[in-house]
Amino acid sequence: MGRKKYVALHEAAHAVVAEKLGCRVDVVKLTRNDRGLCRYRTPKRPDPLVLAMIAMAGHAADVEWSGLRVGLVPVDDHRFVRRLGFSGRSLPTILELARGQVNEHSIAIQHIADVLMQRDLKGAELRRLVVGNETSRAR
Ligand SMILES: [Zn+2]
Repeated sequence: MGRKKYVALHEAAHAVVAEKLGCRVDVVKLTRNDRGLCRYRTPKRPDPLVLAMIAMAGHAADVEWSGLRVGLVPVDDHRFVRRLGFSGRSLPTILELARGQVNEHSIAIQHIADVLMQRDLKGAELRRLVVGNETSRAR
């Protein structure tokens, strides 16, 4: 898998899990130098565990699709989780919760990643795409 696809899946996972856990994404995009960003707003009194799961969702996607070894959490995401007050010992548990979310929403995440390869996404469009993807899924 190319670096760009890897980053797209990582950012798409942050974005979709953020939406699913009650936050509102403003923008998600790939940036220069093979990086990306996902900016979202939280509810008034956000649950720290929810925020940690959103942060770890990127790494959960890395593990799921890019074959990255468990534990190689990107430094920004890692720092964010630690600042929420979680110790390093909590990270495996938070990662497992994030992996559950990523699995549950894997179709939507892969779809959003494909779109991110082409263009940036604002929150409103992201929400349309995520909802559309879930209602069209055969079950
Ligand atoms: Zn990340």
